Amino acid sequence: MKIAFIGLGNMGGGMAANLVKAGHSVRAFDLSEDALAAARDNGCETFTSAAEACDGVEAVVSMLPNGQIVKSVYTSDVIGKAPEGTILLDCSTIDVATAREVISAAKSSGYEMVDAPVSGGIAAANAGTLTFMVGGTDSAFSRAKPILEAMGKAVIHAGDAGNGQAAKICNNMLLAIHMIGTCEAFKMAEKLGLDAQTFYDISSVSSGQNWSMTSYCPVPGVGPQSPSDNDYQGGFATALMLKDLRLAMEAADNADAAVPMGARAASIYEDFNGAGNGQLDFSAIIKTF
Ligand code: NAD
Repeated sequence: MKIAFIGLGNMGGGMAANLVKAGHSVRAFDLSEDALAAARDNGCETFTSAAEACDGVEAVVSMLPNGQIVKSVYTSDVIGKAPEGTILLDCSTIDVATAREVISAAKSSGYEMVDAPVSGGIAAANAGTLTFMVGGTDSAFSRAKPILEAMGKAVIHAGDAGNGQAAKICNNMLLAIHMIGTCEAFKMAEKLGLDAQTFYDISSVSSGQNWSMTSYCPVPGVGPQSPSDNDYQGGFATALMLKDLRLAMEAADNADAAVPMGARAASIYEDFNGAGNGQLDFSAIIKTF
């Protein structure tokens, strides 16, 4: 299949390479020359604008920083430039309202489109093991699925347009909350004289058990290998967690949803990020307790 790929950064670079490996012909565009050079090394053909990359394609995939950029790229360079009927897939993490707005604009011009944000970081993007949560019609989903399968291990239909973004931010809001709760519990256990490994042995088989504890323990040397064992380097950066929490707070506001724990988590990550810790893994939040 002839596929345009727009946004070849940390995530998009590896995803485009996996489309090439799956036998697709990838027409790539990014504003960065370095990203374009890396894409050429990975077998993509590169272009000097998104509109040019969209010429004659059957699908467009994007992996861009935010909703404003997604909206501007689609409205000026994709809609009306890609052949009518092209399936459009935006894999960026953006706000629900903009995702719905862009999908609706695409539909008015005769395109089917899905929002398909991912779970999994740069390593999963390179390895082709991302999880995609997809919003869009049944027809758009069935056309997008085989393309996404070349870049991921799981492709899940979350419902109508925007529901992929909704699933992503609700999941990450919950992740932030249980990571903070896990950190608090370990620190309180320590103050009460309880050894961290002993608390882990008890709580990991009791009702406090959760993913932040047993798959991604914020205490170094406890549980399976995680960023805490590497001085909180790598993993999922605090700045990216904060981006998702801000999107979650915006969506909660728009939907009039009560999110007292999410709001507290967002404010705790806001302070931690503001203190210069944006590049540390999000489990480093334990340093604040
Ligand atoms: P990144 O900054 O590394 O890559 C974004 C790329 O988009 C850059 O190469 C940039 O030059 C390019 N770009 C910006 N504006 C453009 C435009 N108008 N036209 C063409 N290219 C343009 O970011 P990333 O880490 O790859 O993240 C991309 C998206 O994936 C974000 O929405 C992010 O929230 C999401 N995400 C990232 C991770 C992660 O671990 N990095 C995990 C899950 C989801």
